[in-house]
Amino acid sequence: MSDLRWFKGNTHTHTNNSDGDAPLEDVVRWYREHGYDFVVVTDHNRLTDVSGVQGPGFTVIPGVEYSASSEGRPVHINALNASALPEVRVAEGIVETIRQGVNAVRGVGGVPQINHPNFRWAFTDAEMGQVEGWSLLEILNASTDCNSFGGGGAPGVEAMWDRLLSEGRRVWGVASDDAHDFTKEFWGHRSWPGRAWVMVRASDGGTGALVAALQAGDFYASNEVTLDALEVTEEGVSLVIHQDYQYKYTTWFLGKGGKLVKRCLGNEATYRFKGDEGYVRAKTCSSEGGFAWTQPVFLKKS
Ligand SMILES: [Zn+2]
Ligand SMILES: [Zn+2]
Repeated sequence: MSDLRWFKGNTHTHTNNSDGDAPLEDVVRWYREHGYDFVVVTDHNRLTDVSGVQGPGFTVIPGVEYSASSEGRPVHINALNASALPEVRVAEGIVETIRQGVNAVRGVGGVPQINHPNFRWAFTDAEMGQVEGWSLLEILNASTDCNSFGGGGAPGVEAMWDRLLSEGRRVWGVASDDAHDFTKEFWGHRSWPGRAWVMVRASDGGTGALVAALQAGDFYASNEVTLDALEVTEEGVSLVIHQDYQYKYTTWFLGKGGKLVKRCLGNEATYRFKGDEGYVRAKTCSSEGGFAWTQPVFLKKS
């Protein structure tokens, strides 16, 4: 047995240092008081100083939402645990703009998280796929106008994720709040907190361990469903789904191309690798409409 634990966090949060409606202290308090273990503060092109709001049992990770655009198509990339402000530079075309962003984020020691590709239908998996040096993709952004699920013939971000994985890219799926609105009612066309998060498995809840686990893909994304266990071995993947209320659960194991390789009903789901799936990831849906997405396990070709 290991002494790894799960830590709940949000990797995408705004304060009134950019276009959020609340000061840093109120933002941090909201997450601390609602069962979270950490939050990453990611104001647009601002490195908000979080040194004064650290507290026992709760970690505030500094960050920036690098925000650029190419011909009206926004390119937003979070710099998780940035040590300085990445410089925004104008680049030619969307792919170059993404590449500049990833490089700028890495240049300040940040871990890049590519945000909401479907915000203003900005870029595709083919465009992201031309850029190296990143591994976190926001497959669900719970704020307004991010079109995470796609529609009208345009793919959702989860489908883009499968396409990248199918090409052999190592990409981990993140769900986040992109919270802006902490005051007034949590209602209407606004971006309030608590709607999408990651559960990170780490030895402790400090910045170093959390960021390392995010980079290693030792986490799952959720907007409702909690896992009591998640085990990956040489043989396969197994999960135990936490029972909330009287919900019922379905788990899909998906392989290359997003192809369904097994469906499991109930609170336990297991999959034994055959070896030719390319990769395998699990997606659990509750009868209430919430999800958990585990990270892909890549299988070596035999
Ligand atoms: Zn954004
Ligand atoms: Zn944002």
